[in-house]
Amino acid sequence: MNETAPAPTAPLRARAEIDLAALRANVRTLRARAAGAAVMAVVKSDGYGHGAVPCARAAVQAGATWLGTATPEEALQLRAAGLTGRIMCWLWTPGGPWQAAVEADLDVSVSGMWALREVTEAARRAGTPARVQLKADTGLGRNGCQPGEDWAELVGEALKAEGEGLIRITGLWSHFACADEPGHPSIAAQLTRFRDMLAYAEGQGVRPEVRHIANSPATLTLSEARFDLVRTGIAIYGISPSAEIGSPADFGLRPVMTLSASVALVKQVPGGHGVSYGHHYVTPGETTLGLVPVGYADGIPRHASGSGPVLVGGKWRTVAGRVAMDQFVVDLGGDEPEPGAEAVLFGPGDRGEPTAEDWAQAAGTIAYEIVTRIGTRVPRVYVNEE
Ligand SMILES: *Cc1c(COP(=O)(O)O)cnc(C)c1O
Repeated sequence: MNETAPAPTAPLRARAEIDLAALRANVRTLRARAAGAAVMAVVKSDGYGHGAVPCARAAVQAGATWLGTATPEEALQLRAAGLTGRIMCWLWTPGGPWQAAVEADLDVSVSGMWALREVTEAARRAGTPARVQLKADTGLGRNGCQPGEDWAELVGEALKAEGEGLIRITGLWSHFACADEPGHPSIAAQLTRFRDMLAYAEGQGVRPEVRHIANSPATLTLSEARFDLVRTGIAIYGISPSAEIGSPADFGLRPVMTLSASVALVKQVPGGHGVSYGHHYVTPGETTLGLVPVGYADGIPRHASGSGPVLVGGKWRTVAGRVAMDQFVVDLGGDEPEPGAEAVLFGPGDRGEPTAEDWAQAAGTIAYEIVTRIGTRVPRVYVNEE
């Protein structure tokens, strides 16, 4: 976890600056968009690479009333860091830390009978009821309980456990497959199935506090998907779920992470000089090369070899040749910035720098993966803490 980073007293090789004021503003923007539904800030995978605990605290300051993680370990870390509100985690495997979760008052997701058995057993041992949210697969085809007999059995057994005081069914929920493709027919189909599965459970006597299905793209584009709670991840970090639905600015969001490095070496080379492993770049003429000291170990995608954009001295440069484990090179076209000059890989874009989306396009992936994979060797430097 990147919970604490020492204040940078000396220039850093590389840094991921995390603007917590931007994160708070994004959460407020999403609250307004959620129009009365509560906001869950999703801080799984170390806050999508931004640092789970500082981001969780900032999100709570801005009015997020729920926090969400994938694994129970991630949720327990938030509790241990002193976050006292509602925390939900959804990715369980048999033998998981159910009792610790019950004792930490987490909301846990249950998608099938094995999980319901393990959580009721843990609640019995803990002597406290577990907060359980039943997850429906409304069409994603991933986690969640299938409609029909499976759902009927899960709901029936959960109600029995609730009757025995072992659990409280706090939520009914699901997840979209294609919310980032507005108009995709699966969206309406999933909403219909979700309403049906809710109606069945409520008809049997479930009284959930929250019903929820919306992730960031659904929160941004589908007012009918908000229900009682929206689970926003990527949008709180100021990144659009996909370039097709709009830019961050289109939604009033501001990117939170700025990734930069100190240029480690600048040198003149003749034309015809091969650059980096495999010599996939050869200088077209006499030029200058700049060494940027971050590589795939730091999460810079090797797929961005020959294509990743970097701002140096006010100009966009491109990764020349291969991204190596710890470094890559840019052709500076004859410019000679001082060693130590700032190379900005991505940020909000308003200083002319590329964005995480630009890197996603260069690497053939999504911006989620770009920020989430920034490695632990890159210190996170928090600015604008409240
Ligand atoms: C990651 C995740 C989210 C958040 O998705 P974003 O697209 O980042 O908003 C919501 N719900 C579940 C179940 C998730 O796994």
